[in-house]
Amino acid sequence: MNKKNNIINKRKQKVRRVRVIFLTLALIFMFILLIFGKNKLNSYLDTSFTEAQGISEDRIPSLDEEVKGPLSGKKIIVDAGHGGSDPGTIGPRTEVQEADLSLKISYILEGKLKELGATVIMTRTEQITEQLGTDTKLKIEDRGKVIEDANADMLISIHQNFNEYSSEIKGTQILVRKQGSLDFATSLQKAFNQELGVNLKYILEEYHVLKYGDQPSVIVETGFFSNSQDEIRLQEDEYQERLINVLCDEIKEYFDTIEKK
Ligand SMILES: [Zn+2]
Repeated sequence: MNKKNNIINKRKQKVRRVRVIFLTLALIFMFILLIFGKNKLNSYLDTSFTEAQGISEDRIPSLDEEVKGPLSGKKIIVDAGHGGSDPGTIGPRTEVQEADLSLKISYILEGKLKELGATVIMTRTEQITEQLGTDTKLKIEDRGKVIEDANADMLISIHQNFNEYSSEIKGTQILVRKQGSLDFATSLQKAFNQELGVNLKYILEEYHVLKYGDQPSVIVETGFFSNSQDEIRLQEDEYQERLINVLCDEIKEYFDTIEKK
């Protein structure tokens, strides 16, 4: 029995040793697999991350990316007149509201100025207008704060006009304050007169949005709702585009001239 037991014990020991070696090898193998597998996974993730970035860089332009153009580096405030509980002037034939039309024209101006490389700040947006509802209007002080905080190179305020005494008067008229804006107003009024075949004179104004900030500031009264032709054409895309083109050409010209001085 003893001899037999010895043989059995030796066999058991041998089996145990084989098991230990097998387990150790298995552990080493699993360890290698783990490290190698993780590295491979990481490199795969890295590659697909880069690829994903590559795709997004190619297809989605960055929002912060500035367009290079003749107005690069210029900050221009676009102020859409009225809004909220203040509809402004109302067209007697079509019931168009100055507040709505001014906002639409302001957005076209914003787009065009951005295309030319300018940074644009809007005092009134669709979102602000929605928040105003029909009970409140944008306070002049709030517009003033935006204008003064912006420290901009120019302010363009968009409105429409109404002449109670004459339905004949038509065309775009500039309102301007004396301080630093007269040269611009003179050439702007001249350009609109030439484009529209009218002979309007700019008007000196020292109040409203024109009193805020140090930048050249003009109110562009794009047309007269008291005139039937103006009331209709002001609502046409092509005519709006035409006015914005005159305005932007003069803005470019203005900055060109002061930079050459
Ligand atoms: Zn107005």
